[in-house]
Amino acid sequence: MAESCSVFGCKSTKSDTVSLHVLPKDPGTRAKWIQFIWRARAVPAKIPDKIRVCSHHFSDDSFVNFTQKLMGFASKLILNPYAVPSFYLGDNTTS
Ligand SMILES: [Zn+2]
Repeated sequence: MAESCSVFGCKSTKSDTVSLHVLPKDPGTRAKWIQFIWRARAVPAKIPDKIRVCSHHFSDDSFVNFTQKLMGFASKLILNPYAVPSFYLGDNTTS
């Protein structure tokens, strides 16, 4: 089964335009991610290893090479190690 985004309500899977990101190593940043992913739901006692957050939930400046990727100089977006997801899909969807 293909990997997909773990954020509640988001069904994004990895593609050319969507990248999936694993939990950061920094404990403080990690805690913010977990808070974001579970939002109003109860956080499980043991966080699953397969947690992924897709690039839709991050602002452009969360990526160290966003401009390079946009211009075609990079094939994969690299997330700033201290970036925290901040957007929920559906909050301002246009589709
Ligand atoms: Zn997502």
